[in-house]
Amino acid sequence: MVSNKAKHLIRTIIAALQKAVFPTRCLVCKAFLESRQQKSLSQDFEDDASFNCRNRLSFQNLMTGFLCPTCIKGFIPVKSPMCPVCGIMFKSREGEDHVCGECLTSPKIFRISRSPGIYDREFMAVIHCLKYKGKIQLARPLGMLLFSAFIGFWSTNSIDIIVPVPLHIKRFRKRGFNQAYLMVRDWKRIAKNLNIELSNIKIDTDVLIRNRWTDPQTGLDRKKRMTNIKNAFSINDQAVIKNKRILLVDDVYTTGATADECAKTLLSGKAEYVDVLTLARAM
Ligand SMILES: [Zn+2]
Ligand SMILES: [Zn+2]
Repeated sequence: MVSNKAKHLIRTIIAALQKAVFPTRCLVCKAFLESRQQKSLSQDFEDDASFNCRNRLSFQNLMTGFLCPTCIKGFIPVKSPMCPVCGIMFKSREGEDHVCGECLTSPKIFRISRSPGIYDREFMAVIHCLKYKGKIQLARPLGMLLFSAFIGFWSTNSIDIIVPVPLHIKRFRKRGFNQAYLMVRDWKRIAKNLNIELSNIKIDTDVLIRNRWTDPQTGLDRKKRMTNIKNAFSINDQAVIKNKRILLVDDVYTTGATADECAKTLLSGKAEYVDVLTLARAM
């Protein structure tokens, strides 16, 4: 028999946990979230148990509890017509997918790149909250969004290894986490809940190493980015990636310079091919 005092203590702890995980204000515009917008922790676990539908992985569903309805509407999903290589969404909403001018003039080293959303407005702000403000509770819903893009664009038996783009050790120590890894680390559990077979895919955070410090790529054009990131990566153990099909994961695709440099390094280690999945795509 649990005493009233113990019950009260449990309730207090749950309320505190809830507050720690789900904010009372929208993470982007700081508007107060109505209580029905705030998910409860117990409801979140129930969601998991009966989680059998891909609609649950929509941005709207995943972000309720973190963002207000107005900010949720700021999300722009990537849709056709797009470039089948680099995944850029064309401004014109008419016509078929076709290779973009950029991919024709400078062919990519990776095979294909895809992202669920456009790097703009509220989605950009959400990614900044995770990356620069340490709101790591966002890694879970954003990881689910990334997973939904993965199963939407790839068949799960076309990839052997998932490689999050590594940070330089100095940046990793300063930030305390690698956002790309945080977004994929729960994929096995998410897949299990959706009855999707993922057991043959390995997540590897050791094989690709960032051995050279690079200044942030922000504000640089593609050419400068390519020079800045050149030879920044190396392979730890070639045996791990030889003849393997790799999915490289990162938070944002801007010019593709980082993705291409990682792909070059992984292919030099005899990977079969390198595909790229990022949470957001800059236009
Ligand atoms: Zn808002
Ligand atoms: Zn392209």
